[in-house]
Amino acid sequence: MSNAETAGIRPPWRLLLDYVRPHRWTLLAGAVLSLVTGATGLLLPLVARGLIEDLSHDRAISGALLTLTGLVVANAAVGALGSYVLRRTAESVVLGARRALSSYLLRLRIPAVDRSEPGDLMARVTSDTTLLREVTTDSLVGLGTGGLTLAATVVMMALVDPVLLGVTLAVILVAGAILGVIVPRINRASRQAQDAVGVMGASLERVLGALRTVKASGAEPREEETLHAAAEESWRQSVRAAKWSAAAGNTAGLAMQSAFITVLAVGGARVATGAIGVGTLVAFLLYVFYLMAPIQQVVGAITQYQTGAAALGRIQEALALPAEPAARPAPLPSPAAEPASLSFTDVRFRYADDLPYVHHGVTFDVPARGMTAFVGPSGAGKTTVFSLIERFYDPESGTISLDGRALADWELPLLRSSIGYVEQDAPVLSGSLRANLLLGNPEADDDTVRRVLKTTRLDGLADRLPQGLETRVGHRGTKLSGGERQRVAIARALLRRPRLLLLDEATSQLDAVNEAALRDTVADVARTTTVLVVAHRLSTVTTADRIVVMDSGRVRAVGTHRELVTGDPLYAELAATQFLATAE
Ligand code: ADP
Ligand code: MG
Repeated sequence: MSNAETAGIRPPWRLLLDYVRPHRWTLLAGAVLSLVTGATGLLLPLVARGLIEDLSHDRAISGALLTLTGLVVANAAVGALGSYVLRRTAESVVLGARRALSSYLLRLRIPAVDRSEPGDLMARVTSDTTLLREVTTDSLVGLGTGGLTLAATVVMMALVDPVLLGVTLAVILVAGAILGVIVPRINRASRQAQDAVGVMGASLERVLGALRTVKASGAEPREEETLHAAAEESWRQSVRAAKWSAAAGNTAGLAMQSAFITVLAVGGARVATGAIGVGTLVAFLLYVFYLMAPIQQVVGAITQYQTGAAALGRIQEALALPAEPAARPAPLPSPAAEPASLSFTDVRFRYADDLPYVHHGVTFDVPARGMTAFVGPSGAGKTTVFSLIERFYDPESGTISLDGRALADWELPLLRSSIGYVEQDAPVLSGSLRANLLLGNPEADDDTVRRVLKTTRLDGLADRLPQGLETRVGHRGTKLSGGERQRVAIARALLRRPRLLLLDEATSQLDAVNEAALRDTVADVARTTTVLVVAHRLSTVTTADRIVVMDSGRVRAVGTHRELVTGDPLYAELAATQFLATAE
């Protein structure tokens, strides 16, 4: 079974241990240092006693003073080191979880992304992982040190009087039963609080991603309500968790006081019958007192863990989403690499089991080299063809082959390194123009970049921008015009030296002059590369070597412009109406 399949059924603490394991020795060191501070603290009164006795005997106290000072300083130093090591380890656990989660999210399969809220996934990486910090320090260390002290105290109690120990344990058991009811409620409330943080992340992402539209629509008050509602839900659930945590803490306190009273009563009776001496009872009562701190610590650790378990559960869910196998991107094809051939054979596909089919048996062949244009009304399934070639999705039946080899037999990185893909509405990532261009080929040299800038007519833009290629083009490229964004996307794809170039309405926003220039560039590229274009301009389509006409998830006809104008009524209509003709 894969990691993803088992993740859902593993208890959360197993995942926590996965993240903690690499740091177990530092964590232990931190815990030991903290224990040492506590122990050293216990020595202080003894030294102070010596000091006072020396004073009363009129002896020189410089030696004892020095010891005391040294002890105090050492204690502080060890304490500081201990809490630093613990906190540092906890941060490392958070780092490990964040790294694992970020890597995993990058590998998510696109259908999983389609079904997720990016803002919620973001919250899992940022907010939920943060909660592991307290779990590591407070819960794990608390459980360890508290548990040890508890065990030692219980052993001492057993030595003093097993009967009174039985009485004490009975009271603790009753409290344990009550805690057993309370603790799951803390978990549930914490989980809902964290889910609400996820909802808030999703709402924020939605609003900030479209703030211009929100403002233009005057929708701020309604969006504000949504955001506030998510924040308030998180507050409500956190308060609920706080209520149950408080109840748990005080149940533990109450239990200890009840234990004290019960031991007093039962112990008193045992003293009266002569079963034990008064000294034994006093000693035992002292131990009941000693028990209080570690029990509070253990109960605190358990309640604290509930928050962490809720966060761990959300992290596990993200790690259970379907992902592509971990693999490094393959090197790009050499400049001399042969162009790719492509074929679709009876491909049937739908985006989800409960959605209608988008491809009902799509079949076409594209030889190596040359330009193939896909035309058809919107919704025909053209973009889906490209998504299937990139293996963002897999068809339900039928075969897609590149170079005569089924896509399923390709290693994913190698397949994708062969392809340059300009999406419909291709995004520009926030960052420098250069970073955007080099996204698909970080090794491209300056000459190549300059050449591609020229062929995509971006050289003017690069010269005009204040810092040239280093200019930050802003979040989602909002500082670029639609046409500039498209040309950046085309340049990015060309820099990958693809053996197969996919252009999805990639020049739809260009003006006539730029469009004509890009058409020449693409025609040029098609001499050495296989080019597929989804186009709606007659000018682009007429220069194609072959045209695939799609309608409602089927290929209606394949041919040249001349053949199709007379041979296919839909194509003739598209060519004649505004759909294809406006660009002319
Ligand atoms: P075209 O590019 O020809 O306009 P598409 O391939 O984008 O058409 O879409 C074909 C059909 O698939 C449309 O009905 C569209 O609503 C649907 N579709 C596209 N992408 C998705 C998706 N990610 N999830 C569900 N349905 C989708
Ligand atoms: Mg499309």
